Amino acid sequence: MKKVYIETLGCQMNKSDAERMLGMLEHLDYTETQNPKDADLLIINTCSIRKLSEDKAYSAIGVWGKWKKNKPDLKIAFCGCVAQQVQKDLFRRAPYVDLVLGTQRLYELPELIKRIENGERVVSCDETPCAEREEIKRVKGVNAWIPIMEGCNNFCTYCIVPYTRGRERSRTPEAILNEAKKALNEGFKEITLLGQNVDSYRSQDAEGKNVNLAELLRRLNALPGKFRIRFVTSYPTDITEELIDTVIELDKVCEYFHIPMQSGDSEVLKKMNRRYDKETYGKICANIRQRIPDVTITSDFIAGFPGETEEQFQHTLDAMSEFELDYSNTAAYSPREKTVAAKWVDKFIPEEVKSERLARLNAHNQQCCLNSNKKYLGKTLEVLVERFDENNGKKVISGRSRNNKMVHAPYDRDITGEFVNVKITDAHTWHLEGEVV
Ligand code: SF4
Repeated sequence: MKKVYIETLGCQMNKSDAERMLGMLEHLDYTETQNPKDADLLIINTCSIRKLSEDKAYSAIGVWGKWKKNKPDLKIAFCGCVAQQVQKDLFRRAPYVDLVLGTQRLYELPELIKRIENGERVVSCDETPCAEREEIKRVKGVNAWIPIMEGCNNFCTYCIVPYTRGRERSRTPEAILNEAKKALNEGFKEITLLGQNVDSYRSQDAEGKNVNLAELLRRLNALPGKFRIRFVTSYPTDITEELIDTVIELDKVCEYFHIPMQSGDSEVLKKMNRRYDKETYGKICANIRQRIPDVTITSDFIAGFPGETEEQFQHTLDAMSEFELDYSNTAAYSPREKTVAAKWVDKFIPEEVKSERLARLNAHNQQCCLNSNKKYLGKTLEVLVERFDENNGKKVISGRSRNNKMVHAPYDRDITGEFVNVKITDAHTWHLEGEVV
């Protein structure tokens, strides 16, 4: 057997791509190694959302390229979002790379690997998606990630995704249901539907019936057995009443929405080309909270978008508290080539101001998380156990509640994959503690 090492940077979509790569490579007699120095094939799954992750990818292949001197048969593949951006230009920068594989040609991997094994150097970054393949080797755990749509039509002025993942494309309901059935048969207890704009999911089934996200959730919910369903990421104004109804009505769909707001200031939102203002976002959250008690709503925010004033940044801090956001991913603005905002150089916020705002955003986020967690003191939550740890004689299970809260509880044995009820006795910033009841 040959050995492959895959390094994955960035989002869940990349991690899901890596599972598909491993599945396809197993059929070519590759087995996974966690040690890159042992590998015959090195793959990096790149992310271009921020400059830092792009730099990480270049630095990894720089190291790998040097190994080729002593191991001339070693093959290096550069895949994912940065590959889609740079395409054949990568060969000038990194002549030791054998394969540049764009995001929409993932399923071509087996043919391309055979070609590089025969000494060719190949670039495949065409924007026509290739036909799906079914091989997947999932990372062990309780949750299976299932992409249902890919790409984005929104062109937010800071975001590279429409240029790297292309326009929105939805998979057929049959392909998704088959993948879900297989994952459940393999023992996974939770399915998370993935998409850059998951609520934009639109497809047709084999009988020509239109299927949106709500209908897809109904079909998945009808599969037998006890399991959970989640979906991420939601564009705020794409969340429909029908979708909220399905979350309320369907027993397997969890009370959790990830709805990036990006800024709490309406002027900044306009400059970001987001299609809502602060009030609209607030109304969306209020409506969900009023209809779904104990729902968790998480968000994403950018600190230091070009031209952002201190007052506008303050509106972001205010929005986090006002809309009771349970948790937020945060980042300082990072200019991305090709995007509109990257051209507003004269409006760029100095690095030290961005860092200082990010630090304040993080501190405020922590306070919001703690406030949110305290609401659950004394309540009982159903937890899907993800792991068991034993340290210094202390045995603890950890898992997530339906509303995506991390919960720890003492327990005397490993019950990973089981559902238990936990009464919450203590609330911390990043997790809850309780007792199995
Ligand atoms: S909605 Fe905006 S931020 Fe999200 S992927 Fe599309 S362009 Fe990027």
